[in-house]
Amino acid sequence: MAMPKRGMSKDAVLSALESFRAGDMSWRDGRCWAYVYDPGPEASEVIERAYLSFLSDNALDFSAFPSVLRLENEVVAIAAAHLGGDESVVGSFTSGGTESILLAVKTARDYHREKRPEIREPEMVLPVTAHAAFHKAGHYLGVEPVLVPVDPRTFRADVDEVRRAITKDTILVVGSAVSYAHGVVDPIPALGELALEHGLWLHVDGCMGGFLLPYFRRLGAVIPDFDFRVPGVTSISMDLHKYAFAAKGASTILYRTPELRRHQIYVCAQWTGYTVVNPTVQSTKSAGPLAAAWAALHFIGDEGYLELARRMRDATQRVRAGIEAIPGLRILGNPDMNLVAFTSDELNVFHVIDEMKRRGWYIQPQLGFHGSKENVHLSIQPSNARWADAFLADLSEATLAARALSAAAGDDSLRDALAALGSGPIAPEQLAGLLRLAGADGSGLPERMAGINALLNSLPPERTEQILVEYVNQLFRQRSES
Ligand SMILES: *Cc1c(COP(=O)(O)O)cnc(C)c1O
Repeated sequence: MAMPKRGMSKDAVLSALESFRAGDMSWRDGRCWAYVYDPGPEASEVIERAYLSFLSDNALDFSAFPSVLRLENEVVAIAAAHLGGDESVVGSFTSGGTESILLAVKTARDYHREKRPEIREPEMVLPVTAHAAFHKAGHYLGVEPVLVPVDPRTFRADVDEVRRAITKDTILVVGSAVSYAHGVVDPIPALGELALEHGLWLHVDGCMGGFLLPYFRRLGAVIPDFDFRVPGVTSISMDLHKYAFAAKGASTILYRTPELRRHQIYVCAQWTGYTVVNPTVQSTKSAGPLAAAWAALHFIGDEGYLELARRMRDATQRVRAGIEAIPGLRILGNPDMNLVAFTSDELNVFHVIDEMKRRGWYIQPQLGFHGSKENVHLSIQPSNARWADAFLADLSEATLAARALSAAAGDDSLRDALAALGSGPIAPEQLAGLLRLAGADGSGLPERMAGINALLNSLPPERTEQILVEYVNQLFRQRSES
């Protein structure tokens, strides 16, 4: 593929782009129960306009764009105050939860390199519910994740298990508020005590819950303490592009003191070009996400967020009760917020996902891992609320259909092919064969995913990872259309 020799017309460009979306999930109608956070048309318009008006301003250089410095300081100050931070709490605006977590792990690592240079192979203790971004950070940064089980009933971090996993090389302990998979808050005060006792860094992952939990508490939910008011909490990540409804590309990373944050900042004067001063990962970056986050916080405002939280909380209560009333389904743990995971002991829940897709809904599969059975995840957001009853009616039907599909004999050819692979590396032709058996031709995914999901669920996670690396390496291939 080459670019057109002569530029296309504006209309042709824009309509081509729009046409590419035909196969995407249509989230604007509110039938998508993950990935999207929609505060409604009025707020969205303001957020989009703010984003576009700062689209090409370069947040790389706050000396050329002082507005960027002001916007970042105001957004981060709001975030710090929201999480009980005092005057000494500082932070940075980042592109997302993953970047915030990457920076927290890097900053903890570099802080310990200075304070405890005898540690050569640093470790971080992760409850199995900690977000994959910590594994990714460990992978990028050379900090070894040490996984510990969580309470099998509540899915909250087990403080005794965390304590047992601490070694002389431990630099970091992680708790979530809330965890993505089950939507529960870990026992942060007990983790804080443990961190203080052992002189460890405690990071609280508030990417999902940091912004919304305080509103749920104001609405009457009993929410355990998780923020800077808890002694021992060192840093907190909080996304704005989730339940603060900012445009995507908006998160914050906060530290208890500037002395800690110092280890995050990167400066390079050892080349012939402009001196690079990068507090975060990116260098040249659009100021759009920052302006959009500022716009969301100021347009929606505290009362607006409380009202959105009320809608989400009401919808969550209805959906939870509805799921519990459907024979064969059960909710995992007791969600503290508006994230709900449900599973089944009687049928293959991956069929429920396919059946819901046929009925026009998107819900998200989560594979089983360490005592958390394979399940379906919902991140409930305001535009889902008006659909709650229709969603539950379809979920009930989809569950019945899934029960019939689960009872029917499956096709074992894919399973046999996987078993025949052995445990070595996977050659491209072997992968192609697997994909054909799974109903995918290599350029897209099959309509029904239950077979693939069930298989991935049955494999050791390392094998699943290996297969997906090969698959993606093939999927994103820039071959020309013939
Ligand atoms: C979403 C999420 C992340 C990762 O954030 P991204 O913005 O997707 O990079 C990390 N932790 C939790 C708990 C999350 O929900």
